[in-house]
Amino acid sequence: MRVHVLTIFPEFFASPLAVGIPKRARDARVLHVSLVDLREYTHDRHRTTDDAPYGGGHGMVMKAGPIVEALDAVMAAAPNAHRVLLSPRGPALDHRKVMDLARVDDLVLVCGRYEGVDERVRDFVDEDLSVGDYVLSGGEPAALAVIDAVVRQLPGALGNVASAGSESFVDDHLEYPQYTRPEIFRGRAVPPVLLSGDHAAIAAWRAQASRAVTARTRPDLLARGAARSE
Ligand code: SAH
Repeated sequence: MRVHVLTIFPEFFASPLAVGIPKRARDARVLHVSLVDLREYTHDRHRTTDDAPYGGGHGMVMKAGPIVEALDAVMAAAPNAHRVLLSPRGPALDHRKVMDLARVDDLVLVCGRYEGVDERVRDFVDEDLSVGDYVLSGGEPAALAVIDAVVRQLPGALGNVASAGSESFVDDHLEYPQYTRPEIFRGRAVPPVLLSGDHAAIAAWRAQASRAVTARTRPDLLARGAARSE
């Protein structure tokens, strides 16, 4: 998968993409990230990407020109690319959306800044996408969350060390509790079944614990799962 990130801060992405699973996926050529500096698509001496809002008000608005010219350049090379504008206006990212995005060959992530982007940019993207009901100071952390979640679903990205199949949200459940050494930590013991070596008993305990955690902390997920299977 190729991800094209349109941003005025390409340097924002350097260290997060150089560690862990995103790094491994890039090394394995499962993921390619192209950082597109919006300032490359300006035509004035100051390389201006923002301007004051029409109608007045505080803050600055990102100009449509550099964003749409950068989109044109990406689309010329990848005409089927799926274009996402990170914005509080979109539906919030969830597991289903991550799975949908993981099937795309070329994904474009447009990062806003300041008070947001000129409304006319929306005519040149496929959808808005939010990462939750709060306001970030830029689309970059949201784009990183999208990249990180999507890369985990790409075939070959996790390798043999892990599987995305049993993780939280896959079946509208949260994952079961995990433990590692020591066996007793500050008086708290690991559930004995996990030390039993009985794989069937362990699987049963984990299934039950997953249901219990979900019922306690996210009953909305269970309700959603039940509605879906009706
Ligand atoms: N004035 C806008 C917020 C702009 S925040 C408003 O009130 O809606 C600046 C940029 O950060 C946005 O253009 C968007 O790209 C990004 N951003 C902020 N919050 C976000 C969220 N919850 N999800 C995705 N992107 C977000």
